[in-house]
Amino acid sequence: MATFKAMVIEKAESGTKAALADFDEANLMDGDVTVRVEYSTVNYKDGLAITGKAPVVRRFPMIAGIDFAGTVESSDHPDWKAGDKVILNGWGTGETHLGAYAEKARVKGDWLVRLPATISTREAMAIGTAGYTAMLSVMALENHGLTPASGPIAVTGAAGGVGSVAVAILSKLGFSVSATTGRPEQADYLKGLGASEIVERAVLSGPPKALAKERWAGGIDSVGSTTLANLLSMIRYGGAVSACGLAGGMDLPGSVAPFILRGVCLLGIDSVMCPLPKRREAWKRLETDLDRQKLAAMTREIGLSELPQAAADIVAGQIRGRVVVKIG
Ligand code: NDP
Repeated sequence: MATFKAMVIEKAESGTKAALADFDEANLMDGDVTVRVEYSTVNYKDGLAITGKAPVVRRFPMIAGIDFAGTVESSDHPDWKAGDKVILNGWGTGETHLGAYAEKARVKGDWLVRLPATISTREAMAIGTAGYTAMLSVMALENHGLTPASGPIAVTGAAGGVGSVAVAILSKLGFSVSATTGRPEQADYLKGLGASEIVERAVLSGPPKALAKERWAGGIDSVGSTTLANLLSMIRYGGAVSACGLAGGMDLPGSVAPFILRGVCLLGIDSVMCPLPKRREAWKRLETDLDRQKLAAMTREIGLSELPQAAADIVAGQIRGRVVVKIG
């Protein structure tokens, strides 16, 4: 029996239980490409899956992990051959399809993106789904017509994964960035990533007004709920917010006033089922628009055995920046 190490989630008497286990290769799910996984990462959704705090996992047993970078071991897909370096984000991996925290993954070739030439597998997962989502969020603001001349952009949950990468990308592109955070002690870190201003989370956490003083041309929000409602109320005429997260809650207790009186747009961002052409564009942009030194400064590395602690930490909002997981 050929086995490999994996972080496996099983149903337990109450809820679910995640543990490092030897997984039988014969039990991998269908797919036309088998990948030797080199790195994965810790995203908020991985935290929810491992801690069992939300019903992310829909099949048991499940190998957790929604994204990976690695090398193709074998392929029946016309686009991929042994030795190719690939990235996978989403498509239900770690939710409905056996996931990334494993030495081996078998997936559909149609889900894979080629690793950009200048990005290593480790850097790809330092970026991870959080960073690729930050890029999608920036692209949505650009498609809306926002440029650095439009005015400052607010990034909520700035010290988290999506937030940190968003701050670094926006600053490289020349935007003035207001980093909003509940961790003022991370001010130097956020300034190092390129934030021009640090804004206390409390500014966006009171009861939302229908309209507040116009402050930002746009925003990238990974928090949702009251934070997003307050942010929308402070967006300047004609601006836009990319909404990608729910770290503060899934509700949106706001008003339509910003939309109908200021022409503000709410841009929904989904990384999981995002079509391939947009994924490829996002990864191409990440090659040029994210400063690698800043990426290194926001990243730390752990092994598979440290995942349960990292999962608890990310759900508690205690992870700063990005965590890569070295597999094997
Ligand atoms: P992190 O935990 O790294 O970052 C979230 C940040 O949000 C925290 O660091 C904290 O930032 C802030 N935060 C946490 N709790 C609260 C709260 N109660 N109120 C206000 N702010 C809070 O997670 P990620 O960056 O990996 O993911 C962020 C969100 O984006 C998640 O909800 C995730 O599910 C979502 N996401 C969505 C994707 C999509 O496809 N749409 C893809 C990837 C992520 P600070 O301490 O600076 O205030």
